[in-house]
Amino acid sequence: MSKVKEQPNAENPEELTGLKVTEPKEWAAGIPAVLAAFKDVLEEENPVRGMRALLHMNQKAGFDCSSCAWPDPDDDRSPIAEYCENGAKALAWEATNKKLTPEFFAKNSIADLARMNDFEMGKTGRIAQPVYLPQGGTHYQPISWDDAFKKIAANLNGLSSPDEAAFYTSGRTSNEASFVYQLFAREFGTNNMPDCSNMCHESTGVGLAEVIGIGKGTVTLNDFYDTDIIIIMGQNPGTNHPRMLTALEKAKKRGTKIIAINPLHEAGLTAFKNPQTVKGLLGISTPLADLYLQVKINGDMALLKALEILLYKAEQENPGTVFDKKFIEENTVGYLELVNSWHQYKVADLANEAGVPLSQLQEAANMISHAGKMIICWAMGITQHVNGVATIKEIVNLALLKGAIGKSGAGLCPVRGHSNVQGNRTMLIWDKPKKEQLDKLKNFFGFDPPRKPGYDVVEAIKAMHEGKLKFFFSMGGNFLSATPDTTYTAEAMRKLKLTVHVSTKLNRAHLVHGEETLILPTFARSDKDTTGGIDQIVSCENSMGVMQQSQGMLKPVSDQFLSETDIVCRMAKATLGDKSVVDWDKYASNYDHIRTDIEEVIPGFKDYNKRIREPGGFYLPNAARDGKFKTAKYGDKAAFTVNELPQNNMADDEYAMTTIRSHDQFNTTIYGLDDRYRGIHQERRVIFMNPKDIASAGFTAGDKVDLYSYFKGKERVARLFVIVSYNIPERNTATYFPEANVLVPIDSVAEGSNTPTSKLVYIKIRKHGA
Ligand code: SF4
Repeated sequence: MSKVKEQPNAENPEELTGLKVTEPKEWAAGIPAVLAAFKDVLEEENPVRGMRALLHMNQKAGFDCSSCAWPDPDDDRSPIAEYCENGAKALAWEATNKKLTPEFFAKNSIADLARMNDFEMGKTGRIAQPVYLPQGGTHYQPISWDDAFKKIAANLNGLSSPDEAAFYTSGRTSNEASFVYQLFAREFGTNNMPDCSNMCHESTGVGLAEVIGIGKGTVTLNDFYDTDIIIIMGQNPGTNHPRMLTALEKAKKRGTKIIAINPLHEAGLTAFKNPQTVKGLLGISTPLADLYLQVKINGDMALLKALEILLYKAEQENPGTVFDKKFIEENTVGYLELVNSWHQYKVADLANEAGVPLSQLQEAANMISHAGKMIICWAMGITQHVNGVATIKEIVNLALLKGAIGKSGAGLCPVRGHSNVQGNRTMLIWDKPKKEQLDKLKNFFGFDPPRKPGYDVVEAIKAMHEGKLKFFFSMGGNFLSATPDTTYTAEAMRKLKLTVHVSTKLNRAHLVHGEETLILPTFARSDKDTTGGIDQIVSCENSMGVMQQSQGMLKPVSDQFLSETDIVCRMAKATLGDKSVVDWDKYASNYDHIRTDIEEVIPGFKDYNKRIREPGGFYLPNAARDGKFKTAKYGDKAAFTVNELPQNNMADDEYAMTTIRSHDQFNTTIYGLDDRYRGIHQERRVIFMNPKDIASAGFTAGDKVDLYSYFKGKERVARLFVIVSYNIPERNTATYFPEANVLVPIDSVAEGSNTPTSKLVYIKIRKHGA
């Protein structure tokens, strides 16, 4: 066992793994998706276990896929395969019966583990008992649950203020665990509850709440089957929400038009071979996008404005046929201000700014003008920009002009990336809770929750750096790899006194730690949870506001797992002791008790225990979906807003870089080294560049380069990437997250939401080692 303490690497090793490039695909799924779905499951030691679990995934009485938040059908579900390739990979990843024994940790130091890449680390197996790293230690060692909770309690009670602690939540955490988690944090005395939503759809929540009164989407899955046009912006459903393709295919069958707006040409927006149909298995694809607008990175605002102006011209030529004037008059404010704001723009300039030919914009406007019902979908390509909130409000402008909110077959569809990220926020996991939410907690539970706003993710990282945070608890997730500015974030985490991670498998955040650290093993979604001696169910909220039950069925591979809910309840008891006004034992004994109390303090959960057991669950109330708007700023109206065009200026030798996910990846979890649809195999350290840019910079595809970002004079560097020639707009580039996160400046955030701008970083590209 090494006695010399080596600083573990906060990033993936700077090593190439053997890039092979093939032609990008023009269609998604098909037989390759079926083979890929089963490959990971069949490669596990006990494939029967994984195959059995797949039959229960996303079924009404089964467990919810722990990957994305795309909804399951309300009505009939396929009895054999209500999941996609990525859902199957997620299942294989968590259902493995490989375990990390004390011998594994004794053999592998933290520095050894850090030499693995994320893919190799994820393959090691399930963490099977609580482990602890003492101050100055080089190896994790086993610790009992009791001792782990004693350490946590001693640390928390030793802080000079509750605000020296932060409690992070990842989007996998169930409603029940989230509710008790926020309750504990607030009874302990802090609103420091950063969550993964701060890094993804926070811009959506802020933008929509301001102008339509609710920070969530307004559509149901059935609206997709009753609409005329679907616009998909800054989203790659083929990789990140694959079952959305089934919904798009169904929509296409009834004649719905699709406009895709994205800087990269993605297979999953182009065509779909549905592997659940004979046609798909025979290799016959359904074309998806009728029009593909290959916008420049962050050209979306210019594109939206151009569309609005073209639609306005069409409306003037044929009054009453393009805009929904009745809807605008009855339900909105700010229409005239918006129309007046357009006078400052020339459509040709906007087209140029967007990087899309005017003829294509005209074609899009023609399609939209003839559509009675319209859905607009978006994801991180819109939210993770300085102007993310403003672009979302511009999306709402377009929807309001068409009266496309609050009626069947129309609405807004922000597509969430992690299975219960929306539910976490509904359960009050929020660093900036509303006064009325805290009042309800106070009135029901009888303690006074803190009123001071807490830290979001970016604020928490800075507070760690400044020594204001000493204790960090991570409920799931991989905080280090999910966050921006890896070097800065790693420095921040190393300044903490105690870091605690509730996890199923090892990840890089376990290796970059405070003075001491704990890893607490928990159930995966597919594991059977018999806390308190009964078969427990939990619940999750999908992207469309449906609350559904989830019940794992696999025998856990270790008898040392505790549920997330149980961990919180035991931590609360150990920390608060007799001072607590909450009966934590009761909550842990039967999650029904938690749901009973949720019903009392969060609107929309009447008869929660009964309705969550109904097949398919229930929809949460959503006034905007019903055509009712109640906003803090505009009363009972939805608001048109005038949003500025962003200044996407860069120096002559700079490129716009966006971070993307590969097809063998879910957020920070890496299932493999391929990105099949984009023709990338066996490598993640690549930079996609336009062939003209490669030539004019004097490079050749295959060259090794280093990437630099300069934000406010500070240099950041990501070394050793391979150039791939790709269909991407000139001066635009793309790299994989989390490898390029090191280039994303902590201070570059979306205005209004503080979301890191991971979709636009200006970089310089130099020959490797130059
Ligand atoms: S679409 Fe999303 S939720 Fe559904 S199975 Fe695939 S990864 Fe899981």
